[in-house]
Amino acid sequence: MVQSINPSNNELIKSYQEISDAELQNILERMQTAFENWKQQSFSFRSSLMKNAAEILRKKREEYSKLMTLEMGKPISQSKAEIDKCAWVCDYYADNAEKFLTDEIIKTDSTKSFVTYQPLGVILAVMPWNFPFWQVFRFAAPTLMAGNVGILKHASNVSGCSLAIEEVFSEAGFPEFVFKSVILSSSRVKELISNPIIQAVSLTGSVPAGKSVASVAGSFIKKTVLELGGSDPYVVLEDADLTETVQTCVNSRLINGGQSCIAAKRFIVVKEVYDKFTELYVDFMKHKKMGDPFDETNDIGPQASVKLRDELHDQVLRSIDAGAKLLLGGFVPEVKGAFYPPTVLADVKPGMPAFDEELFGPVAAIVKAEDEDDAIKLANKTVFGLGAAVFTKDATRGERIAKEKLNAGSCFVNQFVRSDPRLPFGGIKESGYGRELSVFGIREFVNIKTVSIK
Ligand code: NAP
Repeated sequence: MVQSINPSNNELIKSYQEISDAELQNILERMQTAFENWKQQSFSFRSSLMKNAAEILRKKREEYSKLMTLEMGKPISQSKAEIDKCAWVCDYYADNAEKFLTDEIIKTDSTKSFVTYQPLGVILAVMPWNFPFWQVFRFAAPTLMAGNVGILKHASNVSGCSLAIEEVFSEAGFPEFVFKSVILSSSRVKELISNPIIQAVSLTGSVPAGKSVASVAGSFIKKTVLELGGSDPYVVLEDADLTETVQTCVNSRLINGGQSCIAAKRFIVVKEVYDKFTELYVDFMKHKKMGDPFDETNDIGPQASVKLRDELHDQVLRSIDAGAKLLLGGFVPEVKGAFYPPTVLADVKPGMPAFDEELFGPVAAIVKAEDEDDAIKLANKTVFGLGAAVFTKDATRGERIAKEKLNAGSCFVNQFVRSDPRLPFGGIKESGYGRELSVFGIREFVNIKTVSIK
């Protein structure tokens, strides 16, 4: 049995029966058959269904938002924004997939030679709970538009969302077995990847999950796209607009209760403005309200589970033991539910968990740097490389640092890192490989085929 537990009060929402091996095999075979038909459909047919999916998301925005907030505790206004973004990515690929995958003539010695993008077949998505709809739609919209079919193994605490997403595609008129959600625990993912019907795997999740999935897929020579963790550094230089910078930094740290792969996690501040930044940061952070995620006046709800909250608290305690200064929060509230308050750690240094590890919750780590060079060195001193940002009034300086100095998949200047269907998204180092979104995302799960005619 797989259970959804409401993290606001630790009560059971629903138990779900895991799919049996025989049922799973049957679904995979039917998906293979569905693929043979789906891949022959025109882009305009696929687009019309994807547009329907966007409409259904907009129509059922309230229902799906509530479901997300119930299952994983995201503030309700952020759930609604997430559904809007899912509708956007459906529209985006409905409008652009054909253009992205049109044959490209290349002049050679042959009479005709060209590149064509052909779908691969049944693609497995293993997805996390933190953006239960968005992570899936940013996989599904390009993957289905390219002519593949998709099978979803969602995180075990959001099975309600998993089944609701299947319902969106089904109500939108997608043929049966073009998109399928299956309820199964992560211990069975290995066996699923090894099934000859599965052609490739997209995983969004933690580094350990990435290593496990990549090694199994590698042993069967199956392609993977990995979107893993991050410890995004935000570099604050002496000429930054401090008030605006602090607001951006606090808001970015608290998105989704701090449980975002691209939330700002380490604030690396040059010494000239370190004390002022820290004071303003604590001041702004302490006005953020934690509470019922269904109450729109609250900024953060609970963490996704008590287990995850306790792991986060342990990282905070170990950082304090190693010399970090606790300036705000840092305790487990005596309330029901997986709550953890906005927390600020200052004087964080390499060697401390708050510097070296991913802190997946509302905990800011503030780090002092000597100067620009030192700040960049500290920013890059991490096993991760998902996002990074730099704050300075000098746009040319910011652009140079973002482009040439910070080692991450997305580097932003004077704004927080966010995903956008029009821009590629992904990481380097232990944050993973491959790209989602934009033209790059839709070309991950296709056979980039050369055709040459004498
Ligand atoms: P997780 O524990 O790694 O789980 C992610 C998914 O992988 C779940 O469906 C999980 O299933 C499955 N899984 C876990 N261990 C596995 C294994 N050994 N083999 C196969 N599948 C496995 O991560 P999470 O707690 O859900 O999500 C938080 C993490 O995701 C953070 O590190 C965050 O930074 C990262 N993330 C990255 C991005 C990005 O775009 N780079 C976006 C969002 C989140 P079960 O639930 O059944 O265990």
